[in-house]
Amino acid sequence: MKLFNSMTKTIETFVPYNGPEVKMYTCGPTVYNYAHIGNLRTYIHEDILEKTLNYLGYDVKRVMNITDVGHLESDADDGEDKMLKGAQRENKTVWQVAAFYTDAFFVDCEKLNIKKPDIIAKATDYVPQYIEFIKTLEAKGYTYFANGNVYFDISKFPKYTELSKMNLEDLRIAHRDDVEEDLHKKNPQDFVLWFTKSKFDNQAMKWDSPWGVGYPGWHIECSVIALSNLGEQMDIHCGGVDHIPVHHTNEIAQTESYTGKTWTKYWWHAEFLNDSLGKMSKSAGEFLTVSLLEKKAFDPLSYRYYVLNSHYRKQLAFGFENLEMAQTAYQKLKRKTLALKKDHQEDLIITEAGNKLRAAFKETLADDLNTANAITVLYDVLKSDLLDAEKVSIIEEMDRVLSLDLLKEAEVSEEDVNSDEVVWIENLVEARVKAKADRDFAKADAIRDELKAKGIILTDTAEGCKWSRI
Ligand code: AMP
Ligand code: ZN
Repeated sequence: MKLFNSMTKTIETFVPYNGPEVKMYTCGPTVYNYAHIGNLRTYIHEDILEKTLNYLGYDVKRVMNITDVGHLESDADDGEDKMLKGAQRENKTVWQVAAFYTDAFFVDCEKLNIKKPDIIAKATDYVPQYIEFIKTLEAKGYTYFANGNVYFDISKFPKYTELSKMNLEDLRIAHRDDVEEDLHKKNPQDFVLWFTKSKFDNQAMKWDSPWGVGYPGWHIECSVIALSNLGEQMDIHCGGVDHIPVHHTNEIAQTESYTGKTWTKYWWHAEFLNDSLGKMSKSAGEFLTVSLLEKKAFDPLSYRYYVLNSHYRKQLAFGFENLEMAQTAYQKLKRKTLALKKDHQEDLIITEAGNKLRAAFKETLADDLNTANAITVLYDVLKSDLLDAEKVSIIEEMDRVLSLDLLKEAEVSEEDVNSDEVVWIENLVEARVKAKADRDFAKADAIRDELKAKGIILTDTAEGCKWSRI
């Protein structure tokens, strides 16, 4: 497996610390609002990374945090508190907002076939561990107390710019993010480990600590949650590229100061999904969610297909026309794969030509996750001379990673059975059966096409004509 490592800025051969066991950490969502499809692009690529590693024989233990406290508007601890802003907007408590958007996040993930990580850790469940962590950093001389807050002093960590490769002045600009600078910091890039003197009188999430009642900074949660669940060293740490200059830089500074060891072997970052204003964000421009795509009659898996046709290290410009094209291609692909599954009669024989295609698929994913080429190999399987049974078995294998439900027929739910649409479909199916009996094949084909355009496919079986959704 070759992976691009953002720390060395090169493509490296992946060698985990501990043989086939891979420890993987992914920064999770801040649950003050729905995830937008840009956030979900990153989670789709992370899902592919995890599934590829499994496919290649690694045993992955994956941890994800849920940020339900401490994340201010700017990653560099300035601006308003995101959770509090969400609570005010919705007239709810921060706890209610966190619970609601955590559930909403996993509903979206399920629709996009993003697997749940093995361990999901809420930031608010680790407060005693943050306090112990800060006490250790304090005892080692990495912190100072000013204006009621505990800060990490970045001048004590000489490798501070190692990940970002930026000089401190450029980093200062990246950290400020156009909000008011905290003049109590010794260095502009110092960051808060524990807030006690909150700018927000109505801050609801507060805990007692040796420094006074307060709450943790944002960066500390990922360090502590990772250390608690994966130990002092891990193989892959993931997130979007926006995390490089501040969040991940700060995570490294505090974690390595705490353990005295190199923490993460491979830093993995996904590029942005852009809209007409640049990086899609929750605070600017139109903010697209999975439900909005569904309202516009897009299948969430068409969005997954769209994302997989791009490389995770390249920015992707979002446009509805592109998504429409992706949906058409995805539906066509699924019609073909489902038809293969239904039609094939013969027993499975594994051939050399089939194995070559399997190997090509593996190789392209192992080449820094080239998902777009992996999909090309999938089309190569469809176009090949292999027997249908072997095609189906290869596609089944590929779909364990791609997770596009290529061989899964949509289920017809109970309430669907008597719906107007189902009555309409069944009338057409009956009309087609009659047309065929009357040898009016033009009419029969026209009916088949009409249903196909609505995502309904027909299969002629010994028990008669059956329909299903793609
Ligand atoms: P957040 O919920 O804001 O903490 O972000 C969740 C994840 O989405 C992080 O890994 C971010 O780096 C990533 N992210 C934020 N905006 C975008 C975007 N426009 N495109 C892709 N990933 C993004
Ligand atoms: Zn994080």
